[in-house]
Amino acid sequence: MEFIDLKAQYADLKHAIDTRIQRVLDHGQYIMGPEVRELEERLEAYTAAKHCITVSSGTEALLIALMALGIRPGDEVVTTPFTFVATAEVIALMGAVPVFVDVQADTCNIDPNLLDASITAKTRAIMPVSLYGQVADMDEINAIAERHGLPVIEDAAQSFGATYKGRATCNLSTIGCTSFFPSKPLGCYGDGGAIFTNDDILAKAMREVRVHGQERRYYHTRIGVGGRMDTLQCAIVLAKLDRFDWEIEQRLLAGERYLELLSGVSAVQRLAVRADRTCVWGQFTVQAENREAVLERLKAAGIPTAVHYPVPLHQQPAYRDLCRVSGSLKNAESVAARVFSLPMHPYLDLSTQRRVVQAVLEAIA
Ligand SMILES: *Cc1c(COP(=O)(O)O)cnc(C)c1O
Repeated sequence: MEFIDLKAQYADLKHAIDTRIQRVLDHGQYIMGPEVRELEERLEAYTAAKHCITVSSGTEALLIALMALGIRPGDEVVTTPFTFVATAEVIALMGAVPVFVDVQADTCNIDPNLLDASITAKTRAIMPVSLYGQVADMDEINAIAERHGLPVIEDAAQSFGATYKGRATCNLSTIGCTSFFPSKPLGCYGDGGAIFTNDDILAKAMREVRVHGQERRYYHTRIGVGGRMDTLQCAIVLAKLDRFDWEIEQRLLAGERYLELLSGVSAVQRLAVRADRTCVWGQFTVQAENREAVLERLKAAGIPTAVHYPVPLHQQPAYRDLCRVSGSLKNAESVAARVFSLPMHPYLDLSTQRRVVQAVLEAIA
């Protein structure tokens, strides 16, 4: 059994992907070839965002966003401690201070009710994460940010394809960032990512930062990075985009089947999905006591699992001393000790999901 079945996806899309790759090999424009802008235009249409800027990874997307916003050493950026490390890493790379606010125990997303108390005169941005494929409470977060005159960066690395009140993730705040890491809902065959905004000035700044801060060739108006997404990876995402609506449908169905199969199992807490949004299950994550023992038994039963994430960032050796903790982070600490993720991908069928859930039931018994 595969945790994420990329081979089944390739078998299904082989012709389209191979054709797209061959076309790049034939034209030979490996850097900033025509597929780069083509993909950006397709993703602008998909999200209805005015600007899409492809970049070399999801991490680079977040970093470029902070650079374009002019984040400086000593500034504070408010975020969640319960996320992949990259979210806080880019804040620290800017010399800024990640300020951690607790999450909701049932969605594992940042709790907007705690945001106001975390904001100081040094706060320069709010960076919510749409964890596990479910968009954070963006309306509440945007309202607080607006009151304080702060930009909001949505880390949508796990949620591409999700909707919030009918609108696309990545186009819900000042800047949205996503990742095309192979295991994400929309993945390439290496590293890749994208940034979205409706702000013309920020878009221009981020396009320049992506290529060494150059306004035109060898004329550098700002400090930048080498952050381009390469043409081959863009071609692969383009081939996958043609089937993406179907894949999202399959993800939603697989998620509903898991939720249904696990309903009434009191020892396993399912993620709460809010009624006004979809969850594309970047990970299908549940919570239970005695996680390590449960995972041992699942491994013995041949069920692949993963833990997203075992240690909240305020307890990580590299971040303990450079972060600021706002209030109690007891939900983040509690869910970090309890969460584990089950196989999830668009090719998952009911009989496999029954096997997984049966094994989970036996493992918690
Ligand atoms: C994967 C991920 C990233 C980083 O994306 P990369 O493309 O791997 O650099 C950032 N934030 C979150 C929440 C992620 O899941």
